[in-house]
Amino acid sequence: MKELEELEREARKLEPTANERRIVREGVVNYTERFINEIETIPAFEGERKASEVFLNSPVSEEPMALPQILNMLEKGLDEPGLNPASGGHLGYIPGGGIYYSALGDYWADITNRYAGIFFAGPGAVRMENMLIQWTAELAGYPKTAVGNLTSGGSIANLSAIVTARDSKKITSDKIKKTVIYLSAEVHHCVFKAIRIAGLGECIVRHLPLDDCYRIKPQELESLISADKQQGLIPFLVVASAGTTDTGSVDPLHAIGEIAAKHKLWFHVDAAYGGYFLLTDHGKKVLKGIELSDSFAIDPHKSLFLPYGLGMLIVKDKAALYNSHYYQANYMQDTLGANEEVSPADLSPELTKHFRGLRLWLPLKLLGLKPFRAALNEKLLLARYFYGEIQKLGFEVGPYPELSVVTYRYVPKSDDANAFNKSLMEEVQKDGRVFISSTMLDGKFMLRLAVLSFRTHKSTIDILLEQLGSLTKGK
Ligand SMILES: *Cc1c(COP(=O)(O)O)cnc(C)c1O
Repeated sequence: MKELEELEREARKLEPTANERRIVREGVVNYTERFINEIETIPAFEGERKASEVFLNSPVSEEPMALPQILNMLEKGLDEPGLNPASGGHLGYIPGGGIYYSALGDYWADITNRYAGIFFAGPGAVRMENMLIQWTAELAGYPKTAVGNLTSGGSIANLSAIVTARDSKKITSDKIKKTVIYLSAEVHHCVFKAIRIAGLGECIVRHLPLDDCYRIKPQELESLISADKQQGLIPFLVVASAGTTDTGSVDPLHAIGEIAAKHKLWFHVDAAYGGYFLLTDHGKKVLKGIELSDSFAIDPHKSLFLPYGLGMLIVKDKAALYNSHYYQANYMQDTLGANEEVSPADLSPELTKHFRGLRLWLPLKLLGLKPFRAALNEKLLLARYFYGEIQKLGFEVGPYPELSVVTYRYVPKSDDANAFNKSLMEEVQKDGRVFISSTMLDGKFMLRLAVLSFRTHKSTIDILLEQLGSLTKGK
């Protein structure tokens, strides 16, 4: 009994008092308020990484650390070094977001800790998530019978899709070496990871020929499938991108969808980057044909501006997603009666999971769709604005932006173009006000502009244009 008392006294510290909660909450909120208020002057990139060593030098110990010291570690060691994805100046890779109300959704979800894996336990949580999935499915023109899952990101959504396709098309081990997957070399690398993790690494992977805008040529897909069939191979899966990471190109989804249906292939669309452009008229046109797919991945933490940690998978055939992911155990028997709604745990590899729905639901409800739609249209226009202005500065450009990515490079009179553009990128990164990244296209080192942060506006693009203009003057 004495031991119990002592243990309880110590263990109760896990429930701080109202005053203790207030002190830490105020420390965190004061800092995050300052972070948001000053975001326009906080660098988008800091190349010096040394400060992050503070975490290695401060191991976990029996004793607590004082709040001011903790806040200082977080500010200096966590938030200063490296890329600042919360900055509107993040114009590289695919920028992230971080809208504020999502944080409050997470805050609520973490405190009440509703169980969002099983309908029996968290009927409201599961219904909220299923409604958001249904809304996204309908946005893409999927039928009401479609199902899906809120994932941690696009990579896991793509993985679950490929596993589902594998099982649905009955690609068993004896068939793998004769099975063919069709995709573009521009597909996101997580698709290759997913193929390997799904045990399909020994499939034949055909890289489809691309047009001048780095999009799959559908006629070539059709002839490859026919040739493969004639050879006794098993055409199985075609993966298209609705917004490639490299150039933002959207594959011709409608034509691919018709070919996939004709030859009974599983058609998956990776819309992790571009999916929510479906909220715009332009996006609807460009992504036409996504409704013909069997599944798609889409990332609210990209084109809906959410903080990292939310992707989504949608699958048209409920039975297919379910068959690949459900499982039952004796200790779960009490949950079986509650089956009015499908449970996330039956549609994903996860059982217990973060209640991710609330971080999407809360901002959508508090703000309505209008500002999201406006921000997406703004990103499309900013990419086109940059595409026009950068040419006036003497730069070469890649394809006209279908969504919000522009590739470009400067060809100097004397220096090697690849080395020159790499140094341009490094100069912009060193300055730190904005961050840009690069890629290789047809052996050329290309700079990339990717506009997707909700905090990126015309003034941000003008900073980059002005920098690039002065760095190339007279070159
Ligand atoms: C970002 C991205 C992914 C990977 O998604 P994560 O959320 O980073 O796991 C997949 N495909 C495309 C096209 C992407 O842009």
